[in-house]
Amino acid sequence: MEGNKKSHIDKIVGNVDKKGVLSYLEKLGKNKLENELEKTERDQELIDFSQKSLDEYLLDYRKDGVYEVLNEKIHIVPAEGVFEFTDGWFKGGSASSLYGSCLVDRNSSDIIFSIRLFHEMFHLKSFTSIHVRDNNSSPVNRRSGFSIYNKKGEFFELVDETINDYFCKKFFEEKIKNSNLFDKEDIEKYNFDSPRFQLLEKFEEISEDLYQKNKNDFISKEDVKKLFIDGDINGNILPIARLIEKTYGKGSFRIAGKKY
Ligand SMILES: [Zn+2]
Repeated sequence: MEGNKKSHIDKIVGNVDKKGVLSYLEKLGKNKLENELEKTERDQELIDFSQKSLDEYLLDYRKDGVYEVLNEKIHIVPAEGVFEFTDGWFKGGSASSLYGSCLVDRNSSDIIFSIRLFHEMFHLKSFTSIHVRDNNSSPVNRRSGFSIYNKKGEFFELVDETINDYFCKKFFEEKIKNSNLFDKEDIEKYNFDSPRFQLLEKFEEISEDLYQKNKNDFISKEDVKKLFIDGDINGNILPIARLIEKTYGKGSFRIAGKKY
């Protein structure tokens, strides 16, 4: 991590001055918002803990390092602040893969606040690619983690969120629970919560099914999960796409993209 100046964008497609586009986008997302809270020492401690824990997970997959989310790109707002700021589009937190910045509610629970920070930064540090048609056009998203954007819409958004939540759960179970930064009683009272609980189960089920049907190619279900995760973190979705097509038939990956 140290001295690593990895950009929040991995790939720019289009006939443009790519360095110029990057340095332009890197400057954005830093301005203070109207209702933004000053970060307290405690906030800073939790931001650093969440980011460090996240990087430990990501570095297992991203050998070339991870994007460091600078403090001025992390905006903390009072509870419900994200909902107000995004006109009801997002609740609790939101991330801009174009700007590499995020917005998080200061939930009164330090655990929920930390998991939210982890979740939004996960989006920012996952594979990101954008399209800029020419020097007069605005950049648009092409890929953000596992999500694919094109003229027809966004695909695999739920897969993207599910892999993210899968790591949020790990973060709670493995890092928060073992850290003395948090109140032991708070930890005991907290049950990991995700709006995509069923999808987290589905992720396990489909990985198991793919493993069972391709036992010669994998050592375990965890091996299959790694393909999904690699698609999210490094943008390398071809191997999992091929496996799904081989197992469930031609066109099945595309169909899954519409549904999930
Ligand atoms: Zn999300």
